[in-house]
Amino acid sequence: MSYDLKGKRVWVAGHRGMVGSAIARRLKSESCVVLTVDRSDVDLKDQTAVRTWITKARPDAVFVAAAKVGGILANDTYPADFLYDNLVIEANVIEGSFRAGVEKLLFLGSSCIYPKFAPQPIVESALLTGDLEPTNEWYAIAKIAGIKLCQAYRKQHGADFISAMPTNLYGPGDNFDLNSSHVMPALIRKAHEAKTRGDKDLTVWGTGKPLREFLHVDDCADACVHLMKCYSDVEHVNVGSGEDLSILELTRLVCEVVGFKGGIVHDLTKPDGTPRKLMSAAKLRSTGWRPLIALEEGIRSSYNWYLETGLQTQRVQTGD
Ligand code: GDP
Repeated sequence: MSYDLKGKRVWVAGHRGMVGSAIARRLKSESCVVLTVDRSDVDLKDQTAVRTWITKARPDAVFVAAAKVGGILANDTYPADFLYDNLVIEANVIEGSFRAGVEKLLFLGSSCIYPKFAPQPIVESALLTGDLEPTNEWYAIAKIAGIKLCQAYRKQHGADFISAMPTNLYGPGDNFDLNSSHVMPALIRKAHEAKTRGDKDLTVWGTGKPLREFLHVDDCADACVHLMKCYSDVEHVNVGSGEDLSILELTRLVCEVVGFKGGIVHDLTKPDGTPRKLMSAAKLRSTGWRPLIALEEGIRSSYNWYLETGLQTQRVQTGD
């Protein structure tokens, strides 16, 4: 099966986000027309606005990268927003795409859809086999519903809608706000600030023992375009690097790249979350795709992006 993007009108829903912007960048090397719409023009939570826009824009293919995302604390603090916003956005975009005759759609989720104690590395068939991690179950339930929507439209209407579940992503466009970010950007910022201030220590949330897998967002975008072109089936596909490391090991690596030479202390009032979250990369590898950006190289490019762009945004936001 192969879906040719040449000459197609391709809508990237959520093009301002980290993943959406990476997909839009990646699509520049395909001979297709990239469609985007700003939140100020179309609110994806507004069903009528979404339907009207899709009917006018006539996309052939859609990447659903629009979502309300956040780290462990944000998920735990705003459960209603994480569940409602994500359910409504994906329902509107998927249903609107079906009505408008979209030929191919790729829905993006996350590795948190899997049970907290799923055997590792987690294979796609582990979905719905056990209880979710409570700190992010709201987001996870919404993303599971998105996978099911794609499967339902395929089953009932024969729609070629597929789903990809990326692991923890990082890279340009990441959220460096310490209260809502994921661990990678948080550590990059903390190490940079600790180095700049000449601090003795850097504080890591939790025990540092949980294991996490990371993938650079440009690798993820490449995998999504690859799947859009060559995958067409009911089951979602994991998108990961296939390797994990502990939060403490990650902290040491980030400190090395950033150049912070102080110690590491733990804030045990913060949650650890799920103990391990490594996805099996076997299914994606069997389609012929491999990641290209090694972790250290990715952290370096992410730190450079933070210095060049992220810090400016931060200064504007805080008025520094
Ligand atoms: P998760 O993968 O859904 O648990 O989300 P996160 O990326 O937010 O957190 C991953 C792990 O990193 C958890 O064990 C956190 O406790 C840990 N962690 C350590 N320091 C930080 C930090 O400064 N910010 C965040 N978000 N997580 C941290």
